[in-house]
Parts: sequence; C-alpha cells; structure tokens
Amino acid sequence: MERCPTCRARLRDTPSCPRCGTELARLQAIEAGAMRHLGLAVAHLRQGDEDVALREIEHSLRLKREPLALVLRAFILNQDQCQLSRADIPVADWFWRQESPDIPSPYPTNHP
Ligand SMILES: [Zn+2]
Repeated sequence: MERCPTCRARLRDTPSCPRCGTELARLQAIEAGAMRHLGLAVAHLRQGDEDVALREIEHSLRLKREPLALVLRAFILNQDQCQLSRADIPVADWFWRQESPDIPSPYPTNHP
C-alpha cells in the first residue's frame, strides 16, 4: 500500500498513517496475505499445476485486486487460445530457417 486509503498521504512502513492516524496494520496484513497467495500461485504455475495456481490467484484477488494477479488469471484461462501463427515469425528468422532446413523449427508450419 503506497497511499493512505483515508487521506491519500504517501505511506512508509508504519502501522498508522502519519498524517491522519488511520490504523493500517489490518490492511497491511490483508495485502500481505494477497501477496502470499499470489506467490504460491506463481510457484504452482512453475510446477505446471494450473488448477491449484488458479485457486491461489482467486484467493489472492478476494483479498486485493492486484494487477499481476489479474494478468496471471487471464494468462491461465486464455493460454489455449495463444498459438503462434506464421505472421508471428520474424522475416529474418524465416529466411534463416530456409537456409538451415536441418534445424527443427519451433514455429508451426501449417498455419496461414
Ligand atoms: Zn491518512
């Protein structure tokens, strides 16, 4: 949390707002919980366990609407639709592949 939710003062690592005195400890704990669940989500995603990662992201988002959590959720939910097409191949790489046909291409060959 960078700013006080009450008066918008810039915050440092203090349990209350230096300007208006709003108690921040519970909000900071909620934010820390959101980040902990987001960290677990990334760890599960790295292990390939997307279902558990998605549950951790949803848990994190219930605590705080963190942009990274939103992006990760969209990535997990939409990655089936993310496929390379020939239009994604840089032209120089395409020419290089033509000159070196013995090296397997990481790109799809039958996409338009
Ligand atoms: Zn304040």
